[in-house]
Amino acid sequence: MTPVIGVLALQGDVAEHLRALTSSGATACAVRRPRELAVVDALVIPGGESTTMWKLADIFDLLEPLRIRIKEGMPAYGSCAGMIMLADRIEGGIEGQETVGGLDLVVRRNAFGRQVDSFEADITLKGVAGGPVRAVFIRAPWVESVGDGVEVLGKVPGTDRIVAVRQGNLLATSFHPELTGDTRIHEYFVEMVRER
Ligand code: GLN
Repeated sequence: MTPVIGVLALQGDVAEHLRALTSSGATACAVRRPRELAVVDALVIPGGESTTMWKLADIFDLLEPLRIRIKEGMPAYGSCAGMIMLADRIEGGIEGQETVGGLDLVVRRNAFGRQVDSFEADITLKGVAGGPVRAVFIRAPWVESVGDGVEVLGKVPGTDRIVAVRQGNLLATSFHPELTGDTRIHEYFVEMVRER
């Protein structure tokens, strides 16, 4: 069966995720409306700007439908701003900033600081075979602390900075695999969706 995976298309690097999902064996489509969300098997929340994405999700009446589907067990993958959207708690958010939630963790927004707003690193990820992935970080968050049910999949080498996690049907990375042409993380997610 070919899973139908939506990409939340309010803001951010939607086209890159659509392409990576298609290359990974899914049928990919943009999601902007509750009725579009209702028909996908799973969802990717892209990188971009979490504050803008949150405001647009509110305006488009998507926040509650997103929370409900995630609570019901829909698989979701968030990269960068998408990781922030999937976090239960944010540090460094703007006044009143809400998330969709689902991941029992604290995410720190813009965590890597100004001098290293953007950088790349090779990250070994638990469950992803074939060697480390090249990870592109752009004003990226990190995971400050995790609850018991959260599995840490990857850290920045030589540090304790958590940048990839999984909890049940939810997957999140601080970085942007959709920008490198390496589709192993999207393939991992498509496999998660197939298993469900
Ligand atoms: N700093 C952005 C935010 O807070 C995330 C950056 C990104 O997605 N590349 O949403």
